[in-house]
Amino acid sequence: MKKNITDVKFKGLKVILRCDFNVPIKDGVITDDTRIKSSLETIEFLMYGGAKIIILSHLGRVKEEADKLKYSLLPVSKRLSELLNREVVFVPYTRGNEVETAVNNMKNGDIVMLENTRFEDLDGKKESGNDLELAKYWASLGDLFVNDAFGTMHRSHASNVGIASLLPSAIGFLVKKEVDEISSALNNPRRPLVVMLGGAKVSDKIGVIENALKIADYVLIGGAMPYTFYKALGYNVGGSLVDDASIDFCKRVYEENKSKIILPTDVVVASSMTNEANTRLTSVNMINNNEIGVDVGVATLSEYKRILSSANTIIWNGPFGVFEIPKFSNGTRKIVEMLSLSKAKMIIGGGDSIAALNQFGFNNKNAHVSTGGGASLEMLEGKELPGLSVISDV
Ligand code: AMP
Repeated sequence: MKKNITDVKFKGLKVILRCDFNVPIKDGVITDDTRIKSSLETIEFLMYGGAKIIILSHLGRVKEEADKLKYSLLPVSKRLSELLNREVVFVPYTRGNEVETAVNNMKNGDIVMLENTRFEDLDGKKESGNDLELAKYWASLGDLFVNDAFGTMHRSHASNVGIASLLPSAIGFLVKKEVDEISSALNNPRRPLVVMLGGAKVSDKIGVIENALKIADYVLIGGAMPYTFYKALGYNVGGSLVDDASIDFCKRVYEENKSKIILPTDVVVASSMTNEANTRLTSVNMINNNEIGVDVGVATLSEYKRILSSANTIIWNGPFGVFEIPKFSNGTRKIVEMLSLSKAKMIIGGGDSIAALNQFGFNNKNAHVSTGGGASLEMLEGKELPGLSVISDV
């Protein structure tokens, strides 16, 4: 078992806290502060417990000097200060004299936030490449490392795996909750367990589909992925999105798991990928050459309703249609409505699925909505998270 912050003494210690404050920012204004709020419990626990908290986070992808303006963490430090009603000292550097002076001046309960860890990527990908010298520098600033950045647990970066391998370490409340919720749904689910996988490309989800077939009672496949299955089964899919590299995979897993894999039986097809397109509801074996599959159909939705209403655990990743285009959004909206009413334990992950939840007004206390799309997907694949493996054991 990994140590969490209730297992360690930190009063008076300098705690390097890795958060995932990779929030959307438009014209300098944060448009969704969910990720900041998600780590407040950990920050307050450390703050009231008398730690000196040094916060590290990444924001966006920093590829050129000009990205520094777009991806400064200054607005995040201001928002965090508002939410905590406390001063957060922002240091606009990732290392150097200013950083060391700010850290040395800290008193118990103070918070210092350094600039975006990915600014270090401009100089030879030091953060993303887990550069040892950089990890040693950051580790030298503190006595203890706490990782609360679930969204980057699947990465081996200097600011998570690097520091954790050099200092005593623990996970924060957010990471603990994410890992506990997802692990229990995967390893010890109340059955039936239904895994719903949508999205665009089968190749991105091969590992997830394979693992889901091992653990679930039903695997519902939606979005664009069914068209690769249909092509593998010899149907005409017209102009639908097909992942040709995955055809053999689809043929094999379908043959081996016919009773477990639930593919749509009817779909909405469109004349183009626009809201002005002509649409038609059709059985999946009657798609014409000039048509594109964009959403699941009504018969499919009523089959989903039957399966989902019997489920005791549901895991959902990836939208079931092109929900961003209103004319093609019905299936994903209906699924969100079904999940809102469900009494099952739910794990929902992936940026697009969460966008769909927000768009269609999802509300259900039984759901764990993950803050880490990539990390939750890797857990669904049955993989270990490098950011977690490296944390000290109890
Ligand atoms: P992913 O990143 O793989 O989870 O894919 C999410 C994207 O899949 C969303 O932008 C959806 O619009 C898209 N998508 C869902 N259904 C389809 C479809 N039938 N054809 C093309 N794209 C789709």
